[in-house]
Amino acid sequence: MFWCPGCDAPHVVRHGSGAGPRWGWNGDAEKPTFTPSILVRFPWGPEQKERVCHSFVTNGKIRFLSDCTHELAGQTVDIPNWEES
Ligand SMILES: [Zn+2]
Repeated sequence: MFWCPGCDAPHVVRHGSGAGPRWGWNGDAEKPTFTPSILVRFPWGPEQKERVCHSFVTNGKIRFLSDCTHELAGQTVDIPNWEES
């Protein structure tokens, strides 16, 4: 799980075995890399407008793809420390 500064919400990334989609993880909690990309769609706000967050997490950085609906689309940012969120 990591805090997404674009969505201002946590995204859950599961690894290992079990139900649901699974991601590869490099085992590093400080500078995680997840594969493949993380695509999140969810309803947002009083109108329940669909938001899209599509990102690659590599070496502790989040690279947002241009199909994100939030303002960080197309940018690369550091994953915020959970404690600071
Ligand atoms: Zn997001």
